[in-house]
Amino acid sequence: MNNKYRVKEMQLTLQGEGAMAGTAVVLLRFEGCNLNCSFCDTEFAGVDGHGGGVFNSPAELAKAVQSIWKSNLSVNVLCTGGEPLLQLDKALIHEFHSRGFRILLETNGTQIAGTGIDWICVSPKSATIPVQNHGDEIKIVWPQDNINPKNFEELKFDFFWIQPKFDKNYEKNLLLSIKYCLANPKWRLSIQTHRFIGIP
Ligand code: SF4
Repeated sequence: MNNKYRVKEMQLTLQGEGAMAGTAVVLLRFEGCNLNCSFCDTEFAGVDGHGGGVFNSPAELAKAVQSIWKSNLSVNVLCTGGEPLLQLDKALIHEFHSRGFRILLETNGTQIAGTGIDWICVSPKSATIPVQNHGDEIKIVWPQDNINPKNFEELKFDFFWIQPKFDKNYEKNLLLSIKYCLANPKWRLSIQTHRFIGIP
């Protein structure tokens, strides 16, 4: 079992998007991804970001997460990437839970999430079929080639989000996203608020 963890960055912030927007979290960005999306603007290579590094055990990583959290309330740890399920294994889930952490996950859906994760957000990407096909929320970056939100409407999620792709065509993507939600009210508009309020 891999009990070493490579982390690109780790810092206290607010979740910026989806149903948990505005919630204080320790953002834990794992290194690496199994996809190579053309529109990806996330830096996930290496361990050189703020709070990043190599952690040699679940306990070592959990202690580092805990040290960043400022409250006596349970830690919210937001596991993202890259693709966090390449590293978020059973041992780490167990370690986080044994310390009372609440585990929030952002995944591209190509890996099965371990049992007991407290909040699962799946964001499927073009030309992949999510094997993690249930959770709390599903979020589609829009527009995207080779992906049809209709194909996900029967899956078991509580929230269905369309999120405008953040690139040089953002204004156009926002209008297309608004138009999509107006025509398909199963889907709600998700705005990446962190990009506009200057937080990670
Ligand atoms: S799945 Fe996410 S992190 Fe990975 S390449 Fe695609 S957009 Fe980037």
